[in-house]
Amino acid sequence: MFGQMQDVPLLVNRILDHALVNHGEREIVSRLVEGNIHRETYADAHLRARKLSQALQALGMGVGDVVATMAWNTHRHFEAWYGITGVGGIYHTLNPRLFPEQLSYIINHAEDKIILTDLTFVPVLEGIEKDIPNVKAIIIMTDAAHMPETSLKNVLCYEDLIDSNNGDFNWVEVDERAPSGMCYTSGTTGNPKGVCYTHRSNVLHTLTSLSNDVMGLSSMDSVMPVVPMFHANAWGLAFSAPAVGSKIVNPGPNMDGESIYQLLTEEEVTFSAAVPTVWLMLLQHMEANNLKLPKLNNVTIGGSAVPRMMLEKFERDYGVMVKHAWGMTELSPLGSIASFKSGMEHMSFDEQMDIKVKQGRPPYLVEMKITDDEGNELPRDGKAFGHLMVRGPFIVGEYVKGDGGQILDKDGFFDTGDVATLDPLGFMQITDRAKDVIKSGGEWISSIEIENIAVGFDKLQETAVIGVEHPKWDERPLLIVVKNPGVEVTKEEVLAYLDGKIAKWWMPDDVVFVDEIPHTATGKIQKLTLRQQFADYTLPTAEKAAE
Ligand code: ADP
Repeated sequence: MFGQMQDVPLLVNRILDHALVNHGEREIVSRLVEGNIHRETYADAHLRARKLSQALQALGMGVGDVVATMAWNTHRHFEAWYGITGVGGIYHTLNPRLFPEQLSYIINHAEDKIILTDLTFVPVLEGIEKDIPNVKAIIIMTDAAHMPETSLKNVLCYEDLIDSNNGDFNWVEVDERAPSGMCYTSGTTGNPKGVCYTHRSNVLHTLTSLSNDVMGLSSMDSVMPVVPMFHANAWGLAFSAPAVGSKIVNPGPNMDGESIYQLLTEEEVTFSAAVPTVWLMLLQHMEANNLKLPKLNNVTIGGSAVPRMMLEKFERDYGVMVKHAWGMTELSPLGSIASFKSGMEHMSFDEQMDIKVKQGRPPYLVEMKITDDEGNELPRDGKAFGHLMVRGPFIVGEYVKGDGGQILDKDGFFDTGDVATLDPLGFMQITDRAKDVIKSGGEWISSIEIENIAVGFDKLQETAVIGVEHPKWDERPLLIVVKNPGVEVTKEEVLAYLDGKIAKWWMPDDVVFVDEIPHTATGKIQKLTLRQQFADYTLPTAEKAAE
């Protein structure tokens, strides 16, 4: 027997329909690659997305076709997602920071038929054009006046396509379980793997992210998604903002502290989301120029662990509430967020920060557990750490084309590849990536925890900890650091700083100073490269043990 309620499919284009009818006047402000600030409304975006759908349909795009975007956050990129899904197609975001070989691999693997690109990335596409023979056309997201000289064949101008259509178009109806978007992980090990969202998963993720304990956006908010639309589904903001009619402020290509600060203040941004490195640049800019943020209330920070110093500065010096979030491409991407539970508002500032440095609680529709190597569930005592497993309707079930094979355990949980603790109140804390955890004498040492504490030393700019082979303990931690420019600091000082802050047996066996720590295309420390770099490194303790 079935119930008797309306079976209206959960389709992402209906989010923009809702914005048109209820928030048609609300603005989308964008800093463009061409340099100017552009303004339009949700009503304009709706019309232009329909015009793009018409253009795509004329180019032969329809249900199930994959159309890629390689672009900054601008109104055009926003319109593109809806224009593509509007014909029943699948938006596929390309991360321009990937290596050319990875990009052509992804474009071919996803079977992209058309690519929409910003001017910035035309040279990238020129470089790989010969390797992507199945791409039929490239749409450059600019107007006729800015069209570049290019060796690319089959090039079209975005604004010309918009101008040559009238918008008389109804979105193509698909099943809510039909694919809507595609995003590849950055492939730090092996080839990148594709995650294919459905309309339903994107809509459910939108509803979850809008709840008050999560991002909690409202029509009153002016939202700046600094998180790029080309990475991890832009944390869902291209759906959640129009779903409630928040103003959108797109930073385009300029993510330096000064440009971000300018938009935050001029557009009266109340909510923003970005990775820690972006906020670091902003904080440095504000400190150097003695600036404040009168309107900004809320920031969500994730992608890598938020340093405690950053949390403290935002909350104490700038009056901005920080929510630390964890997620990944495979989770659409939101998996947890550190918002308070009742009673925590009365805690001391330090106790509150102890909670906020954790990656937070799973929202409704995300289930979490931690397990040992055999898949047995571990206690939620805040101490035991194990493989972090998740289940839910916006979590990947299988990678595109079955890459990686069966990725769920027998109960349907996905192994995130992260290692974490869960405490009795439900707060999760990442202690490591499974492949980065240091196995010393049969026990696990969290590289991230040592890094986070070490980076609190004011003479250090960046820190990384890796496991190095040891004859007695299998592996021991090696601390690799970049010091702040112009300061002098010794290994002994670094170790003295750590002394008493971590367990004795977690103390790094050595400290190495380097000029630079390598990063992945998404700004994460490249531990694999570091491990290769230090593969033959002999720890001073290893020499002793061998004697
Ligand atoms: P990519 O692998 O392409 O960079 P993801 O954004 O999907 O893309 O990366 C997800 C990974 O980033 C997580 O599995 C986790 O290791 C790390 N991560 C995300 N948020 C946090 C956080 N708040 N703290 C620590 N690590 C995080």
